[in-house]
Amino acid sequence: MAKQARSSRPAPRDRAITSALSKWFRSAARDLPWREEFRARRDPYRSLVSEFMLQQTQVSRVLEKFEPFLQRFPTVGALAAAPEQDVLAAWSGLGYYRRARLLHACAKSIVRDFGGVVPRDVDSLQELPGIGRYTAGAIASIVFNRPEPIVDGNVCRVLQRLDAKPGSASDKEVIAWAWERAESLVKQCPNSPSQREGAGGGRRDADVATPATFNEGLMELGALVCTPAAPKCLVCPLRDLCLAREQGLVDEIPAPKARAKRSRVYHDTVVVWRKTARGVEVLLEQRPATGLWAGLWQPPTVESATRTRRTLKSLLAELGLPASAAKVKPREWVFQTTHRDVCFRVWPLQLAHDAGSPRRWCEEAELAGVGFSNAHKEVIALAR
Ligand code: SF4
Repeated sequence: MAKQARSSRPAPRDRAITSALSKWFRSAARDLPWREEFRARRDPYRSLVSEFMLQQTQVSRVLEKFEPFLQRFPTVGALAAAPEQDVLAAWSGLGYYRRARLLHACAKSIVRDFGGVVPRDVDSLQELPGIGRYTAGAIASIVFNRPEPIVDGNVCRVLQRLDAKPGSASDKEVIAWAWERAESLVKQCPNSPSQREGAGGGRRDADVATPATFNEGLMELGALVCTPAAPKCLVCPLRDLCLAREQGLVDEIPAPKARAKRSRVYHDTVVVWRKTARGVEVLLEQRPATGLWAGLWQPPTVESATRTRRTLKSLLAELGLPASAAKVKPREWVFQTTHRDVCFRVWPLQLAHDAGSPRRWCEEAELAGVGFSNAHKEVIALAR
């Protein structure tokens, strides 16, 4: 039986929370490339790119892609001017390609509507494509040190535990509560934005909580210490202020969220290849502009909502490819996205064929520069 949370929180406790968290963040923060200006002013464009990349993606994966992406598109203007296929290719491996398109659209809007300068206030930031309340709050607070709240799953969990707030972190009422609580805390950070903008978020004052250090500290604590399972309460900088710990509710907060039902789709794919004087080439087609892996490239594929037993002959006919007498056994493989299982059957096939629009032949050595999903990289590897 969950015990009731305390109804009132005196301001001194809140001040102790913001102060302890900021102090801990200054000493324990991971050395990440988008934090390289840690003691100077944070670069808004680098932060923007990192925020887009980090959505639903692990830091370790982003670390591999962040610097190469920035080398390819070093400024917001360079990103805005780039062809979409180049942006998708540079994003390759990060998944959720809709984010790459939105980041690209965001860069174009910054150039077109804001003179190439990332805006500082949350209202203007939220006018940009792909920027919601969380990302706007993150940029405004972390880069420009404005007292704006941020709430994602990590932050919600930390705040819930701190205040022993019951419920699931995906519950609308809990999320609304978390935004209010995050706002009340960040507003108490003593640095005024006018004093601190452009001064590295006030990080020079080791004992002072700033909107930047408090918000980033919340995220870092959720990622490193107050983890979903087995939080490290013994080394937590907030252990003496945490009501869930005091009341023995750490394992009960937040409540598990209801599992979404997974769906299945079936992809029958022919990895067609040919030998030329230049080497081996693979036949590719572009996926539709909307939906799963929108606009990325793949080997010719027929998709079905239900399992359909196709032969190679019937598949080639459906795809409008020349018939082949080759005896090829398909390989079966399941790729899991967040919400669905994509069940592949993959036929490798050598075929001399004129690609014709909208398909194209791509040299094997150039495949790395093409915008592919991780699934289709595996599909080609499986066939080759
Ligand atoms: S004491 Fe434990 S539950 Fe409370 S904030 Fe720290 S890590 Fe999370």
